[in-house]
Amino acid sequence: MVVNQACNELGQTWMESGVSEDAVSGHIQLLVPGETACFACAPPLVVASGVDERTLKREGVCAASLPTTMGVVAGLLVQNTLKYLLKFGQVSPYLGYNSLKDYFPTMQMRPNPQCSNSACVERQEEYIQSKPARDAAAKAKMESEASAESEGPVHLDNEWNISVVDDDEVDVPSSSNTSDRLPDGLVHELPSADKYTQPLVAEEASPIADDLEDLQRQLDALNAS
Ligand SMILES: [Zn+2]
Repeated sequence: MVVNQACNELGQTWMESGVSEDAVSGHIQLLVPGETACFACAPPLVVASGVDERTLKREGVCAASLPTTMGVVAGLLVQNTLKYLLKFGQVSPYLGYNSLKDYFPTMQMRPNPQCSNSACVERQEEYIQSKPARDAAAKAKMESEASAESEGPVHLDNEWNISVVDDDEVDVPSSSNTSDRLPDGLVHELPSADKYTQPLVAEEASPIADDLEDLQRQLDALNAS
């Protein structure tokens, strides 16, 4: 709640995650002050009830900590953080994890207009007031992307100096000097040419046709007898 308060005051986007007390489910959540639900908009039961977490012990529930559930939820949180920071894929606003059924519910969490956190309510009002400007910016972005698509891909930034070259310009190593390119310690010795001038098998004097005629004669003799 302290982190939530600070982020709401600063308008700082953040993420939180948690694992249930029976350690078989968890969730990750993206919190954008004013735009999505803050930690106080829909607080966990333990926070809303104001009960000291250390005294919380429900009947029939084994308070547990499974490193597997913790690891999965932490991995999902870091993945979502990377997507947000490096701007790829779709950042999940909320992703649940039910390990017993391998169920991953996802949803949008709107902020609560009656949130108990006054800074959250202030950010919500600012977000509503900035809607016309956001819509105009989104429209301009869509139009510029549409015109860029019609004109073909344009890359103003070319960080890696990638360019397209004709096949003719590509330096293809000729076969005559491939042996020069072998690293030290490797020897590519071409077999001497005269090895291939010697016939591998001596030519037989009798062609195949004679054999066939001989076989035909044997067959005829068998049929006759
Ligand atoms: Zn709130």
